[in-house]
Amino acid sequence: MSLVAGIDVGGTAINYTLLDDAGTFLIEGLCEHPALAREGPVVCVRQIAEGLAVALARAGASASDVVAVGLDTPGPASATGVLSAEGSTNFIHAGWAGFDLRGAVEAALGTPVAYLNDGNAAALWGHYVLFGDRADATSVSAVIGTGLGGGIVIGRHVVKGVNGFGGEVGHVLVPYGSIAGTEGIRPACNCGRFGDLESLCSLTAIERTLLPYFLARDPSHELHREASLHVAAKRVRGMAERGDKLCRDVFRVQAHALGLFFDQMINVFDPDGLVVGGGAVEASPEFQEWFIAEVRRGMPPQREEQAQVPIVVMPNGDAAGARGAAVDAWNLVRHGA
Ligand SMILES: [Zn+2]
Repeated sequence: MSLVAGIDVGGTAINYTLLDDAGTFLIEGLCEHPALAREGPVVCVRQIAEGLAVALARAGASASDVVAVGLDTPGPASATGVLSAEGSTNFIHAGWAGFDLRGAVEAALGTPVAYLNDGNAAALWGHYVLFGDRADATSVSAVIGTGLGGGIVIGRHVVKGVNGFGGEVGHVLVPYGSIAGTEGIRPACNCGRFGDLESLCSLTAIERTLLPYFLARDPSHELHREASLHVAAKRVRGMAERGDKLCRDVFRVQAHALGLFFDQMINVFDPDGLVVGGGAVEASPEFQEWFIAEVRRGMPPQREEQAQVPIVVMPNGDAAGARGAAVDAWNLVRHGA
């Protein structure tokens, strides 16, 4: 048996998948192991190796079956998996600064290791679902979570960029002044920009900008009774799904912002497909359909061919990072990159 492993490392949990050479995932759903990232890189690398052994045992496979490993972590990190000097999101321990995680995992496992940041790994999964191993397809993915991640895949290649910031789609500015029903809004992002995609289309955007904006216009809305905007923001998706008007308005603004961003991507890449993932769209098929239709409604007029570009919801959202990392490992084995 020839296998690759996909290992998605977060601050608290490591998520594993195994993919065989016939393209079958040997683990359904999540196989998790504690990351212990706060205890520093030495402990975390040990956890990564231990958890892989657990995942292999669960699938009835052994370490000698693994021909390569795909690894992904939150950024910022270099294109070769060296974490930023300031540390990375949720990797809070002095030892992480400038740590070569990819190299350390490769040394610990004795197997070639490919590296992607978590947004790019999810984007590669979204791309693979649509286009498999095709050498000529282009996709752009947006993953709506606490922030907004994603990536650009051309053929089998993830656009990583010279500094590892390729496909940081959340910090691309969108012309939000054209979104109807948002007069006077001033969407700020943690990165210092106003009006980038993440400042309008993320859980943080709901809490910081969209919910305060719409609640101020609806003094009797039940979300005023929540203890904080932080708590209230987490209820918006569920309430939107059930048809609450204010919460639908919040999601309509997010969809229209995404439509403006996708319009830019259509004009830059003329892509084969656009993918939306993340917690925002882990919802009923009806809600997903409504959201995608609103994304299209938010786009400026398209040429007929451009209007045909498929916009799809990324499947297996919670396993997307690990699955994309596994696809990356197969690309390393089969295509050398
Ligand atoms: Zn930003």
